[in-house]
Amino acid sequence: MSTQRSESTLDRFRGCLVGGAVGDALGYTVEFSGEGEIFSRYGMSGITSYELDPASGKALVSDDTQMTLFTANGILFGLTRGTLRGIAAPPRHYVAIAYQDWLLTQERSFQQAQASAADGHKRISWLLDVPELYHTRAPGNTCLSALHRHREASDTIEDYVAFAPQLNHSKGCGGVMRAAPAGLAWAGGDLAVADEEAAQIAAITHGHPLGYLPAAVLAHIVARLAIGGTTLEEAVAEARNAVADLFARHAHLQELIDIIDLAIELAGNTDADLDNIHRLGEGWVGEEALAIAIYCALRHKDDFSAGIIAAVNHRGDSDSTGAVCGNILGALLGYHAIGERWTADLELLDVTLELADDLFTGHKTDAHGTCKNPAWECKYVQCHRYEGDSTEDATAETMDADEQKRFVAEWTMGLGVMGDPTNKGTAHRPQRRALRNS
Ligand SMILES: [Mg+2]
Repeated sequence: MSTQRSESTLDRFRGCLVGGAVGDALGYTVEFSGEGEIFSRYGMSGITSYELDPASGKALVSDDTQMTLFTANGILFGLTRGTLRGIAAPPRHYVAIAYQDWLLTQERSFQQAQASAADGHKRISWLLDVPELYHTRAPGNTCLSALHRHREASDTIEDYVAFAPQLNHSKGCGGVMRAAPAGLAWAGGDLAVADEEAAQIAAITHGHPLGYLPAAVLAHIVARLAIGGTTLEEAVAEARNAVADLFARHAHLQELIDIIDLAIELAGNTDADLDNIHRLGEGWVGEEALAIAIYCALRHKDDFSAGIIAAVNHRGDSDSTGAVCGNILGALLGYHAIGERWTADLELLDVTLELADDLFTGHKTDAHGTCKNPAWECKYVQCHRYEGDSTEDATAETMDADEQKRFVAEWTMGLGVMGDPTNKGTAHRPQRRALRNS
C-alpha cells in the first residue's frame, strides 16, 4: 500500500469515529427538544454550532459516543487476544464485556471504579482509566437494563442474535448508534464478518431485528467508505443488498430495506430536509435512525457540516441521527473535511482519535504471539491507558520463551471469568487484516 493511500485511509478511519462524535455532540443539546423549541431558540436554520458546557468549555458527547468507544476497545482487545493465543471467542464476546466496563462508568465514580477489581469486576477496557468517560449522558434504558440482565445472569451467550427474542423486543436506535467500529475493524477484509459482528454486537442489548440489523448496514457502509474508491451511493446500495442476503430469513427485514430505499429516493427530490426527515420518522428506533442518517448523508455528501446540521434539527433522537450521519460522512469525506470548527472543543477528541488510529493500525503482535509494542500491550493486553507517546512506534524487547509463557498464563488467568472459549466450539481464528498486509 502506498503511503498516500495509507494516509487517506487513516483519515477516513478518523473521520468516521470523530464525525460520529461531532454529530452526537451537536445533537445532544437538542435530543429532547421539539421543533418549535429548536427553531425559536436557534433561528430558522436550527442549531448550527455547539453549545459548550460552561463547566468544561467542551462540546459534550453522549452515550452514543461513549458506547462507540467501548465497542472499539472491546473489538481491539478481542483481536489482540486472538492473535496472541492463536484462537479466541468471536469479538462480540469481548465487546459484551467492554459494555460491562461502560456500565461501571455509569454507576460508579472514577475512583470507585479504579478499586472495583477488589469486588470481582474483570475489566478489559483501558477506557476505564479515562476520567472524562464517567458521566451519565442520557443513556438508553434498553442498554442499561439489558446489560444489567447480562451481569446478573450466569449463562454464557455465544450467539446474541439467536438469543435476542429472549432478551427483549426493543428496536431502539441504541444498537446502531454504536456500531461503526465493527465496520472499521474489518474494513478491507471479509465484510460479511463486519456485518455479522455488528448485528451480534447490537443484539447484546437489542432483541428486535430492527434493533440489530441496522447496525450491520451501518458497519458495511463505513467499511466500504473507509477503504475508499467507492461512492456513497454505491456503498449504501451494496450494504443494503449484502444485509438483505446475509439476514434473508430474519423477520422485519423488508421494513428495513423499504426505509433504506425511501431514504435513497427522498435524497433525490428537492423538498426541504425537515419534510423528508418527517417521512422517515423520528429516529428513536433503529431503522429510522439509520434511514435519517443515510438520507442526510446522501443529500449533503459534499458537505460534512450541512449533513450533520440536517441530521440533528428535528424533533426526534437528534444525537443518534447526528452520530450515525457523522460516522457515514466522516468515513466518506475524512477527518480533514470535518474541520476545526467541530474538533477544537470536542470532548474526548484525543481518545476518539487514538481508537480510530488503533482500529486502522491493527493489532501489533508478531507471528509468534509476542506483543512487541509497549503502547499496544499496555492498552490491549494489560487493559490500561498508555501514558507514553503512543504515536511512537517503539519496539520493546522481545520476551524470551519462558517470559512469554508466564505472561500468557497470567493474562489468561486474569480473564478466568470468561472461561476458556476454545472449549466451546464457537471459537474462530481472527481474520487476517487485508488492509494491513496489502
Ligand atoms: Mg445519546
